[in-house]
Amino acid sequence: MKALMKTAPGRGHVALCDVPERAPQADEVRIAVKYCGICGTDLHIEADEFPNDPPVIMGHEYCGTIVEVGSALAGAWQVGERVVGELHTGACGTCFLCRAGKPHICPHKRALGSRTDGAFAEFLTVPGWLVHRIPDGVPWEVAALSEPFAIAAHCLVERGALGGVRRVLISGSATMGLMSVIWARRLGIEEILVSGTDLDAAERFALARELGATCTVNVQREDLRQVVMERTEGQGVDAWVECSGSPAAISQGVPLVKRTGQVVLIGLVGEETIPVPWNTLLYHELGLVGCFSSPPSSWALALSAEAEEGHKLRRLVTSILPLERWAEGFAMMRQGQGVKILLDMQS
Ligand SMILES: [Zn+2]
Ligand SMILES: [Zn+2]
Repeated sequence: MKALMKTAPGRGHVALCDVPERAPQADEVRIAVKYCGICGTDLHIEADEFPNDPPVIMGHEYCGTIVEVGSALAGAWQVGERVVGELHTGACGTCFLCRAGKPHICPHKRALGSRTDGAFAEFLTVPGWLVHRIPDGVPWEVAALSEPFAIAAHCLVERGALGGVRRVLISGSATMGLMSVIWARRLGIEEILVSGTDLDAAERFALARELGATCTVNVQREDLRQVVMERTEGQGVDAWVECSGSPAAISQGVPLVKRTGQVVLIGLVGEETIPVPWNTLLYHELGLVGCFSSPPSSWALALSAEAEEGHKLRRLVTSILPLERWAEGFAMMRQGQGVKILLDMQS
């Protein structure tokens, strides 16, 4: 079958390859992948800025149809069922994290798409415990967004606990920023400020407002601090959701949070260390919440919200390309064109 692989360590080394299909073991299912979204993490893997074990098939934001069920899962899953799935391959199931429902940060995890074969391929074989049914009526284009939508649920609802918050700043208006807007709206947050750059001004800012942002700020043209202070009676926002991974946005954002406010960290930073106004975190008694990936509980939240938010989520899919045109999709991502680009494995 055709598959997009990271073929060797170092920068680059991404290529379309012909690889053998793998039959499911007793506890696995084999899925004919429909769509797999291109994620910022894929660019980090290409650039060798995110842990990866080549040669490995990339891609982790998948949806598809079950085509084969392992012997131990007979009855639990049927051929023909439409599914999405988590990427926590290798999680041990026995450590304190796994037993607490957090296999997404199990030290034994070897995530599919970076350390175990992923879903930029015609078929994917995965452990059955990772798989979830797609709710009836949710189209493929929306189901394909389940993984990032679950991450946003984990960050804002579970880790961030932003339910009681009135004003939030979301820095970054790519997929994670825009999905954070959807969750912020669901949580009833009144003021949702979204910041970005010239790259976001044409398309993504309009989308952010359509999804529920009350204000968008281009930090290259406007003074973000002034806008935030004007809209918060000079106090700063109750919570700041950092989705950009940009060192400049991170050092600029800390003083925009209200004293005793909350900082929710989502965006991956390319560098190992970056400057942060550390003392401000202390002086202002800010809460700092690190977030990574998506535990099973967040998938339940995402899947139960997908039918309701389907019309909004569908707006985030700005291109669908056949797998062969992956390089074009990666280039569009790198240049910040559109929002979510899906690769179609069946075309
Ligand atoms: Zn992703
Ligand atoms: Zn574990």
